[in-house]
Amino acid sequence: MNASSSSSTVDVATVLAALRRTLGDVAVIDADAQDAARYLNDWSGDYRGAALAVLRPATVAEVQDIVRLCGQHRLAIVPQGGNTGLVAGAVMEGTPRAVIVSLERLNRIRGVDAENFSMSADAGAVLQSLKDAAEARDMLLPLALGAQGSCQIGGNVSTNAGGINVLRYGMTRDLVLGLEAVLPDGSLFQSMTGLRKDNRGYDLKQLLVGAEGTLGIITGVELKLFPRPANVETAYLGVASFADAMALFRLAREVCSDLLTAFEVIGAECVALASLANPDTRVPLQEDWPVHVIMELGCSPTIDGRALIESLLAEAFEAGLLGDGTIAQSRAHAKAFWAIREDLVEGQANYGRHIRTDLSVRLGDVAPMIERARAHLSSNWAGWQPLAYGHAGDGNIHFNVLPPRGMATDEIRRHGSRVLEDLYAIVREFGGSFSAEHGVGRSRRSVHWDWLTPEQRAVSKALKAVFDPLGIMNPGSILPEA
Ligand SMILES: Cc1cc2nc3c(=O)[nH]c(=O)nc-3n(C[C@H](O)[C@H](O)[C@H](O)COP(=O)(O)OP(=O)(O)OC[C@H]3O[C@@H](n4cnc5c(N)ncnc54)[C@H](O)[C@@H]3O)c2cc1C
Repeated sequence: MNASSSSSTVDVATVLAALRRTLGDVAVIDADAQDAARYLNDWSGDYRGAALAVLRPATVAEVQDIVRLCGQHRLAIVPQGGNTGLVAGAVMEGTPRAVIVSLERLNRIRGVDAENFSMSADAGAVLQSLKDAAEARDMLLPLALGAQGSCQIGGNVSTNAGGINVLRYGMTRDLVLGLEAVLPDGSLFQSMTGLRKDNRGYDLKQLLVGAEGTLGIITGVELKLFPRPANVETAYLGVASFADAMALFRLAREVCSDLLTAFEVIGAECVALASLANPDTRVPLQEDWPVHVIMELGCSPTIDGRALIESLLAEAFEAGLLGDGTIAQSRAHAKAFWAIREDLVEGQANYGRHIRTDLSVRLGDVAPMIERARAHLSSNWAGWQPLAYGHAGDGNIHFNVLPPRGMATDEIRRHGSRVLEDLYAIVREFGGSFSAEHGVGRSRRSVHWDWLTPEQRAVSKALKAVFDPLGIMNPGSILPEA
């Protein structure tokens, strides 16, 4: 019997009373309490979740207690970090039939090992706090994303988060040196070795990375750190097309090699959304350009980063790839460039319900894919406005679509799902992915399942069964419920 089919028969009140006795009042929030709302609803406001209760363990042993007790009673668990995920992985809609386990109280930085260039932390530590702690020791934790002030490292690992620095440092997966997790039977998986090289058989910790809470609850993480680039150069550029932006990227890779840390594109139409979130938005370009680029490189003070970026831009200008641009004169100036990129995401949330994607294609297909999707929308979906921006240096574009102003929510839902299907069909034509970095969760489960081959489906189910034979861990996320 799996968790979903049996939870209606569970004496939930008895289980919650036992949990309250074990964990104390502070760790149990009733689902109808006012405080529960922020755990139930996701960041985007698109998903209104429901739960039997919210549990907030403060120690690894308490996480084990919860998982054991839920397992005994076949009660489903939804692990939750900062609840900034965008695919309904940490919230469950419909009739309440699971407990949310929030890691927010398990949030200590366990230590920084400067000699090993690594740090370890509880899973509930907020990403920004880890970045600050690394910086205080003159090192860099390169994972960087708009939600870093709220998302937790356990959530980042569970979604294998990307962000703006993947170009140079890789996805979260590449930063994980060790993991600790409570498995669905309540046992503790320990692999906090801090080793960079360790080829002893299967790399089991990597199975938990990107598993979105379906295989266990991550409680601790050890992460790779890097020397902090003291010399950072940031440029905000205007170019004529996405094709030119990608040609510029190629040139930047050749000229700057691995010093390039970020290469983001922003379709000019997105700037209006940034202004929606921040009316003081000022684009640092002399003229209007159809596509904007934020490019950053980082190096040690012994390298003349400014000379490098200037020579790149001169070469790009000469080659006709670059229209206009500004190099940041200070960290505050660079921060203002990045604010445009962050505000345009916030602006979309302010606009209201819209279609959100997270597509990836091979680098050579970025510009053709965007043009194809734009052409498709303009001929088939009059009034729907495309917004294209993203981590172009990783082939990752958020091709989002705003519905016509004033359209009713149920109309947006109905038509929007067809717009989404069309966009997924287009990215599939290019051999791409519908989820570059946000994961699958519940909102993309059916497309994920649809795209898998029968062999891939069988292996996914078998893997889930090995870790979680009772199906209590985040049921309905990534895989259909058994
Ligand atoms: C403004 C904004 C910008 C963003 N930018 C990016 C970006 O650039 N790149 C990117 O990749 N994502 C981005 N995201 C998405 C999101 O921030 C990431 O997916 C992030 O990694 C989620 O972390 P979280 O702690 O909020 O996890 P949650 O949303 O709480 O959970 C996400 C998933 O992980 C599981 N989970 C959480 N914690 C644990 C744990 N300890 N153990 C097991 N499972 C767990 C949950 O069950 C859920 O399935 C952005 C989101 C916002 C709102």
